Amino acid sequence: MSKRILITGAAGFLGSHLCDRFIAEGFQVVGMDNLITGDLNNIKHLFPLESFEFQNHDVSNFIDVKGPLDYILHFASPASPIDYLKIPIQTLKVGSLGTHNLLGLAKEKKARVLIASTSEVYGDPTVHPQPEEYWGNVNPIGPRSVYDEAKRFQEAITMAYHTFHGIETRIVRIFNTYGPRMRLNDGRVLPAFIGQALRGEDLTIFGDGSQTRAFCYVDDLVEGIFRLLMSDYSYPVNIGNPDEITINEFAEEIIKLTGTSQKIIYHALPQDDPKQRKPDISKAKTILNWEPKISREEGLKITYDYFKNFTKEQLEETKYSKEF
Ligand code: NAD
Ligand code: UDP
Repeated sequence: MSKRILITGAAGFLGSHLCDRFIAEGFQVVGMDNLITGDLNNIKHLFPLESFEFQNHDVSNFIDVKGPLDYILHFASPASPIDYLKIPIQTLKVGSLGTHNLLGLAKEKKARVLIASTSEVYGDPTVHPQPEEYWGNVNPIGPRSVYDEAKRFQEAITMAYHTFHGIETRIVRIFNTYGPRMRLNDGRVLPAFIGQALRGEDLTIFGDGSQTRAFCYVDDLVEGIFRLLMSDYSYPVNIGNPDEITINEFAEEIIKLTGTSQKIIYHALPQDDPKQRKPDISKAKTILNWEPKISREEGLKITYDYFKNFTKEQLEETKYSKEF
């Protein structure tokens, strides 16, 4: 009998890639999503498969899944600063109530559950690079707090279900990840720059561009998540690519990649925007024998190839004007 896994956020960027991976591994996959930031086009190729089923459901409400479940991956949550500023209450609810519902479901089904946490739990970090032992520097009432604090609560309730109810839990702290199926207008820096280049607009850098990030290609992340789920380690693990770069350097790489003749323009830095971020991946290396394999040059090329043939309509499409 093949194993059965529930993946929430299945129509989103990461959720859809996880569906593909678990289908390829021979799992029965139940995808769940309410499509608030996701898109069914990301998983439409899976609909004909017997090994895939989809439920359109808001996981912040009681979750009913018929039949057995061996594993649960909770990836439902708005994930870009623009998204969670547009829908702050839903963001808080899916990280808190949604996670509570999924932990309850895991307890009921005796399933192992993996929760998608984030480098945002470290806030604007004062320790660099960030190891899992660092407790973070988060503004509890700032604009990003709806996401950061929901994710911190998510980790707390997950550990509590593990220690109090004895359920098998895994926590992945994901650092900036990119690849095909990101929403071009979700405001994250990579789709922002590529979208601007393709539309013939100037590239917008927030602040002076000296802030750093470290970008991981999606296939590397998915491999790390797969290994973490199959491991017996129940404490948080950073998964990300430690190859750190300033946003100024990143913009130059995108200009070179796309060949755009547009210039860079500078906008104000959003409040509480982290000045530096880079994962310490020692734990992933020793516990999971994992490290990223795909260079930024290679990953950016694959990602640009995905977006470069988008139609004018696809380039202009914004979720917000349609949905919010
Ligand atoms: P995404 O917006 O592409 O996907 C999120 C999906 O969750 C969407 O399909 C959305 O419709 C769905 N969703 C949101 N609220 C829901 C609800 N209440 N019920 C059901 N479905 C709901 O974002 P993503 O980049 O794929 O992020 C997925 C997860 O990974 C999130 O939990 C995010 O916090 C985490 N994460 C992502 C990154 C990254 O770099 N991509 C970094 C850190 C953490
Ligand atoms: N950023 C930018 N221009 C944009 C979008 C983002 O300079 O058009 C900056 C943003 O201020 C941040 C970095 O790029 O410093 C990464 O932003 P993103 O929203 O992708 O992720 P996060 O801040 O969550 O790491």
